[in-house]
Amino acid sequence: MYSVVDGHNDTLSRLVMIEEETPDAFWERQVSGHVDYERAIEGGLAAAFFAAWVDNPQQDGFSDHSFDRYIQPDGSYTLPLPPPITLAYAQKVIHQLFSKLFRLEAESQGRLSIVRNIEQLEANLKKPGLISAIMHIEGAEAIDEDLHALDVYYQAGLRSLGFVWSRSNIFGEGVPFAFPSSADIGDGLTEAGKKLVKACNRLGILIDVSHLNEKGFWDVVALSDAPIVATHSNAYALTASSRNLNDQQLEAIKKSQGLVGLNFAVLFLHEAGQVASEVDLSNMSKHLKHLIDQVGIDCVGFGTDFDGARISQKIKDVSGLPILIDYLKEDGFSESDLNKITHENWLRVLRATWK
Ligand code: ZN
Repeated sequence: MYSVVDGHNDTLSRLVMIEEETPDAFWERQVSGHVDYERAIEGGLAAAFFAAWVDNPQQDGFSDHSFDRYIQPDGSYTLPLPPPITLAYAQKVIHQLFSKLFRLEAESQGRLSIVRNIEQLEANLKKPGLISAIMHIEGAEAIDEDLHALDVYYQAGLRSLGFVWSRSNIFGEGVPFAFPSSADIGDGLTEAGKKLVKACNRLGILIDVSHLNEKGFWDVVALSDAPIVATHSNAYALTASSRNLNDQQLEAIKKSQGLVGLNFAVLFLHEAGQVASEVDLSNMSKHLKHLIDQVGIDCVGFGTDFDGARISQKIKDVSGLPILIDYLKEDGFSESDLNKITHENWLRVLRATWK
């Protein structure tokens, strides 16, 4: 079985949401959701970026993420951009999510470990039954303009940061969920955003360009001295979604020896982009092959979006990772390719980025 390092899940958000009814949802096998301990071990999951993401407060009316009502008869859709959120609100939610992760680690009896450096991650990968968690923030609204919170979150264990989700904030602009639509919408990074690039470089925090608009992407490319990483994005050439990367962006990722994590969300894989539809494993293989054509076999990985998106019924949840890997094997991927895709490439990039 291949050990998998996953570049993105939204499991903390789901666990916090269902905490009252099922406080032990991570440790007891579930039938719903995508990730719990048992199913993760079954699927070969060895490490994952656990995202802390802040939804808009309910009163904004933007926290209903059922996309289906926005889909036009021709399959196109554009979701309205959610309004900005406050620093105080963002911090409250981020603290709740990270507190959940710290508590999971504390009660894990050696089954979950938050990793803060590459040596620890590599040592953990040799221990069967242990899942390594990488602390990631998706949308930097919890960080103040003077970046004091960044130092605090770094000390707490933050090792990966996406400057924006779909919303704009003081650092930059995200893309709306739209199809067909390019990511070339809005302005680049603000001055605070540019300072944030430098601060992340200095601390060794991975900068995630998934969700960032195109001008912001190019600002990161120009300013960052670390590999350029999109933790969960696919190929725009195959699915013309604002969340996918065009071939020029992929070339920049290749040049920096960065990484693209294949996103398992149906939404970013289907040629026609329709949210309601199902995709086959062949769609995933096609995207992976296009990404590899552009960036090379050393710069791709997985960034599943488990617990944050609708994924193919062929995979169902994290325990289905070997089903995809077997399919890729039959579709021409060698053992060496699969070792790189499942974990070696992520390890290389984290080694080059973390301090
Ligand atoms: Zn995301």
